[in-house]
Amino acid sequence: MLDLFRLRKHHGNQAIPDVVNSQLMESHRGFPVIDESKHPGSWQSVVDICPTGAITGEPLSIDLGKCIFCGECEKSSAGAIKFTSSHKTGTSDRERLIVGPGESYDTFRESAIESRREIHKLFGRSLKLRQVSAGGCNGCEMELSACSNVNFDMGRFGIDFVASPRHADGIVLTGPITNNMAPALMDAYRSIGEPKIVIAVGACAISGGVFSGSDRVNRNFLEEIKVDLYIPGCPPHPLTIINAILEFLGRA
Ligand code: SF4
Ligand code: SF4
Repeated sequence: MLDLFRLRKHHGNQAIPDVVNSQLMESHRGFPVIDESKHPGSWQSVVDICPTGAITGEPLSIDLGKCIFCGECEKSSAGAIKFTSSHKTGTSDRERLIVGPGESYDTFRESAIESRREIHKLFGRSLKLRQVSAGGCNGCEMELSACSNVNFDMGRFGIDFVASPRHADGIVLTGPITNNMAPALMDAYRSIGEPKIVIAVGACAISGGVFSGSDRVNRNFLEEIKVDLYIPGCPPHPLTIINAILEFLGRA
């Protein structure tokens, strides 16, 4: 027993102490800043290079719900597009994911997440989530799993993943929703008691991502069910996920 205590003391506390104010490395691709004045000619070449149709021209905008953060547009935009390392890109409003010219991270953050009082009251101290992987590549699922590891330790805020939708307060959806997973997703959603929330994590869940338009995908679920929180990325960083949920719960 004493050996166990010594080992525990030796390990110390490995959790990131302040997940709200932690910064990511410069190389992380987070919120993009668009400066149209830097691009000399037509945007068509930049629009065409995007593999998911996330960019529209005139005026140039990037839909973070479709973006897979590959960085190809940045390379070919002559400095007009710059991905910053700012990572708190979650929002409760799908339209806010469309970033236009001159929009700053601070402006985006001001109105990104609508934090409702009834959500704070119901789930602010304890939120149990059922994760449904509806045809994803496992990238988003791995980052969600990392949220609960010793470094990110989302469980310290009372936020945990549970094995059954019967024990959950909401669904975390990943993947584009394949035909085979569509009924299982709806079953899981219906198995959760009211009130419940839906969180869409990653480009696939938000827009279909690289699978958008495939006849193997069935996104009718999202036409029927309202998403409460969108967390963009491919995959999103655990700190993006944790901060978005904490803000939604009024805990950040
Ligand atoms: S970084 Fe996003 S917007 Fe730019 S090309 Fe890649 S997917 Fe498209
Ligand atoms: S958004 Fe990217 S990382 Fe997440 S499931 Fe889709 S392809 Fe994989």
